[in-house]
This record gives sequence, structure tokens and C-alpha cells, in this order.
Amino acid sequence: MTSQKSLIPLPQRQELERILAAGDLRVLLLCLYHLTADDVWLSPAYAPQRDVRLIADPMAGFDDEQAAAIRGALLDHLERHGRAPKVTDPGPEKFAQLLSFFLGEAVPAEYVPMVRVEFGFVDETPKLRGGPAAGPRVLIVGAGACGLAMAKRLESMGVSWQLVEKNSGVGGTWFENRYPGCGVDTPNHFYCFSDHPNVKWRRYFSQAPELLAYLEDFAQAKNLAGKIAFNTTLVGAHWQDDRQGWQVTLRDGGGERQEHFAVVVTATGHFNHPVQPDFPGADAFSGLQVHTAQWPQELDLTGKRVAVIGTGASAMQLVPTIAPTVQQLTIFQRTAQWARPVAEYQETLAEEGEWLFEHLPLYDRWYRFAQLWRYGDGLLRFLQRDPAWEQPQRSLNRVNERHRQEMESFIESSLAGREDLLAKCMPDYPAFAKRILIDNGWFKTLRRDNVALVTEPLKGFTAQGIETTDGAEYDCDVIIYATGFNVTSLASRIDFVGRGGRSLAEDWAEDNPRALLGMAVPAFPNLFIMYGPNTNMGHGGSGMWLAETQSAYIAERLGEMMTRDLAVLECKDEEREVYCAEVDRLHSELIWSHPATGTYYRNRNGQVRSPMPFRLVDYWTMTRQRGLEDYHAEPGHRTGQKD
Ligand code: NAP
Repeated sequence: MTSQKSLIPLPQRQELERILAAGDLRVLLLCLYHLTADDVWLSPAYAPQRDVRLIADPMAGFDDEQAAAIRGALLDHLERHGRAPKVTDPGPEKFAQLLSFFLGEAVPAEYVPMVRVEFGFVDETPKLRGGPAAGPRVLIVGAGACGLAMAKRLESMGVSWQLVEKNSGVGGTWFENRYPGCGVDTPNHFYCFSDHPNVKWRRYFSQAPELLAYLEDFAQAKNLAGKIAFNTTLVGAHWQDDRQGWQVTLRDGGGERQEHFAVVVTATGHFNHPVQPDFPGADAFSGLQVHTAQWPQELDLTGKRVAVIGTGASAMQLVPTIAPTVQQLTIFQRTAQWARPVAEYQETLAEEGEWLFEHLPLYDRWYRFAQLWRYGDGLLRFLQRDPAWEQPQRSLNRVNERHRQEMESFIESSLAGREDLLAKCMPDYPAFAKRILIDNGWFKTLRRDNVALVTEPLKGFTAQGIETTDGAEYDCDVIIYATGFNVTSLASRIDFVGRGGRSLAEDWAEDNPRALLGMAVPAFPNLFIMYGPNTNMGHGGSGMWLAETQSAYIAERLGEMMTRDLAVLECKDEEREVYCAEVDRLHSELIWSHPATGTYYRNRNGQVRSPMPFRLVDYWTMTRQRGLEDYHAEPGHRTGQKD
């Protein structure tokens, strides 16, 4: 990385000045340290200020004089000495110091190993004995972020893999979700792979087409794309004890075929099973009915009367985007939503800054770390119930109450003068009890003349539109279901039959998916489930981070199989039980168990099954510290067997 960056000629001084002026000072300062190895840049005189905002101020608390000193020193150094850093890997101890200095707050030592991997200081590729020739044949299912991350790891290990994808392209959720306004609400410098930064992100929060293009680029850059079987679905998989692997049934345009794989990794996503409630009279409606996740490319809503059912994250993005072009927009809300404003949500990054991401060593790394920190673990402890808190219906603790009040004020000021809307929009449950939303101009949009917010429950559909229980009828041309996803069936939608004829659907019956680390299930040997139960990051995090974290764990297990001549790994029953009991114990103290509202995070029996109750660092550390002891391991029946 570094040497290549050094080869590109520096821009002219004036241009470089412009570029540095567009940079984030906190990040530039750390780059300056790497370039010079001069501790003066780590002295209190240059300590960046702590900033808890989701997108930190690029001035980092420096005054103009300090800013000029940092930029000037950087400019001089670059011109005189070039871009080769004197400190590439500072080593764990110094790095720990740098992390805290950079943020202006103490970063506990437990984060250091994880962030060193993020920075690329540690190569996690398992070391294989005897080369990959003896490795298992692996089937990966799904070419979204998780599947691609897994394929990349196996490719770099030299393990034989096949990836099947039901769609005609890579991208998973970003391939499928194409509704207007669709985008990410994690800053995209963290919502990407640590080893594949995108220097060309134009926004802090990118839209779906950019994210899809990023994943397509990743698949190309890592030489994965040509090896993916598109339009191919895994229908079912049966465990075969005699062959120590899975007999899988794959379906593509040519029909069904069977193949054998030693290991199956499902990467079929957490949000890929749209829920379309069955409203009475739905068949009678004469117009078009569309789910946000199944958006027809050619759909043009201009001048149409549109109804949107649901007010979650998808609606929050869709509604403000389409409101200016439709004739009439009627939103059917079942539960009011908390949403927080993020000033930079729609902002673009300065184009000049692109050079820094591309050519200044470690700029992209430090920039990403800032996002990881702000979107990572900070919130979780404030989602914890304080048993002494005196208003448990309103909030969980002092900070949760403050967050609530901040959002209340935001909603009140956004809807000032519209008491009718205010009454409908102020949630009556604690903030963060549902997945938190970023305001995308939602409240402003509700004030539009062509937008109506209906809170009467739906009775059913008529030929002309929607009827509510108070007898009112709302005529429309298009009904949009922004009604979310089933997030508890997950891999059990595939017909997995494990040891003893046990089906995964049976194991996860009662809407109750349970897996060790969200990935491994007893009686289903050599099956790893990515983005499975209790691995969704409700408090903050990035799906790409999860994809990297889990794929490293799975790769490590496969590496162990190969180096120890093991053919079967089956998760121990007791390990899953203990792990899941801990998940439940932690959740009983967390906000998503709060009875004041429903959330798709809970299953139909009230158990929290989507979000992880751990900090990112806890989950990451578990995936690195837990290993073969969680599994019954069996050697191969035949020496040298390859599948
Ligand atoms: P969602 O959060 O589950 O929201 C579904 C909405 O539909 C809710 O308002 C729900 O009301 C309503 N609803 C469901 N069934 C209904 C029924 N029978 N009658 C009336 N209303 C009904 O779904 P989503 O908005 O698609 O988001 C799902 C998840 O996808 C998000 O939480 C997020 O993880 C991901 N996502 C992320 C982004 C992003 O990054 N910005 C964007 C889109 C989606 P209740 O609240 O009363 O249940």
C-alpha cells in the first residue's frame, strides 16, 4: 500500500494546499506522525478534541494557528521527504496510545487487537500446513457483503470454493433494494471492507447504486466475480455422515442438480425476506402493489396517488424522496418512530479530499477508525436498564432520557405549528426501543400539502384504495408496502437436514433461531451461518464489519480442519446453550426487551432474536478467542480425502 502510494507524483504546492485544507485535521495530524515519527505531534499542544457527534468536526477543536501548523508541517514534509511513512506499524503499545490521542478519549486496551486488524497491521489469513490441496470444498450461498467477504478469504487461503447467488448479480441487499432514496445510514467509510477502501465515496452516507457499485468493484478486484454461479439457488442440503459433507440441491435455469460439498456457508442476509402483510381485500385493489424491497425498475410515480404502509427505515428514505413528484402521498403509520437528525446525512465530501484517501498513507485508515468509533460501541451502555431509574416507561436511564428529550425537541421544532402532526408523531416509548432512524427530511415532508399521515388502523383494501377502521377511504393508484422483513427464519428457509434427520426449521421452530456466535448449530456439522440470529448490530456497527469478522472466524475453523486433518466440526450442544443463555440474559437488561413497543427485533414469543447484545469488541474478541473447543471434531474417514 505504502510503496505504491509513494510512487504517484505529488500535486503542485498550490494544489496540495487546497487538498490539505479539505482534509480532516485529526486524521492529517496522525498521518503527520506516521510520516515523521516525531512525537511532538503527539504532544498536548496538538491534542485533538473529543467529539461525540456522529460525524466529527474536521477542525478537531484546533484553532487556525494550530491548523496552519499541522497543514504547513505536512506540506513541507511531503515536499521534502515524500510520502513514505517512518512509522508504518507503530506496534501494539504505541498504537494504543495513538488511538486515545486521536480521539481525545481513553480507548480501552481490549480494542487494540481488533483495530490493528482493521488497520491491516495483522494478517489474519490462516497459515495452512501442506498447502490448500487437502482442503475442503466449500459452498458459499449468497453474493452480498457476507458471501463476498467469505469468498475473498477462501480465495486468499487457496481453498476451493463455489459461490451461488439467486440473483443475476452481486450485492445482496444493495442489489435487491432499489426503491427511490435507498441508502445506508452507517457512514460509508466504515460501511466498506477494511482492506478495500473506496477513495471515491462522494457522500458520508451513500445511496444504493454507489454501494452496489462498490461491492461489484470488490468482487472484480478480488477476482471473485468470474467464479460466481448467478441465478442459482440452494434449495436444500442433506448431511451425509458417510461422506462427511453436504449433499446439496441447486436450482438454476437448467433445473435442479445435486452436488457434494464438505462445508456450507450461508450468507443469505438478514433482511432479504420481505414481509407483505395480507390485508383483507388486497386482491380487490385495482392499482399496483409493491414492496420496497421488490421495486420494479420501470415504476414511475410522477403525478400518481400513492399510499405507503409503514414508517420504518425504508419509508424514512422513500417518502421524502418521492413526495415532491407524486400527486398525493398518504402514509399509514401504526407506530410513531424516533428519528434523530444528522446534519451531514445528505452532504457530500469535498472532492479535493479524494487525493488524501488515495495517496496519503494511512489517511483512509484513521478516517475509517473515527467512524468505527462513533458508530460502534458508544451507545450500547446507554441502552441498559438502570434498575433505580424512576421513569422506566419513558426511558431506561439518565442518558436514554436525555436522548429522548433531544429527539422530542427535534420533533417539536420540526413540526412547530402543526399540532395535528405533533400528536401523531411523538412516540410514547423509550428512544432506541425500535431501530433508531436518521431523519431524512421525514418531519419536513409530513408538512407538505400533498402529504397526509393516517394513524387510524387499516381495515382493508378496496378496489380504489385503502379503508381504515373509522370508515374513511383513501383512493390511490399505487400501494407501497414499507413493511419490513422477516428476520427470524434466516437460513432455515433453506431445507437443511442435519444429523439424525433433524431439520434446521425444526431446530429453530417457534420462530426461535439460535446459534453459537450466531453461526453454528448442533446437529448441523460443517455449516456456518453468516449474519444469523442475534448478530444484527442494533446499537451501531457496520454490516461489512460483521462480514469481515465472521468470515475470519469461519476461515480460522477451516484452517484448523486443514492443518489438523479434521473432516467434521459439529457445534457442541452445551456450548450453544450456554452462549444463547448469555445472549438472553444480556437482552433482558437491554432496551429491545422493553414492553412499551413492538419491534421486529423480537420474535413472536417476545424473545430478542435479531440484534446482538454485545459490544463490537466483545463479539470480535469472542470470534478470535473461541475455537475448536466449541466443536466435536472428527477426522476424515479416508486419508487424503478432498471433499
Ligand atoms: P421495519 O423497520 O420493520 O418497518 C416496517 C414498518 O411497517 C413499521 O412502521 C411497521 O409498524 C409497519 N408495519 C409492518 N406491518 C404492518 C401492518 N401489518 N400494518 C401496518 N403497519 C405495518 O422495516 P424497514 O423500514 O424496511 O426496515 C427494516 C430494516 O432494514 C431496518 O431496521 C434496517 O436494519 C434495514 N434498513 C436500513 C436502511 C438504512 O440503512 N437506512 C434502510 C432501509 C432498511 P410498527 O412499527 O408498528 O411495527
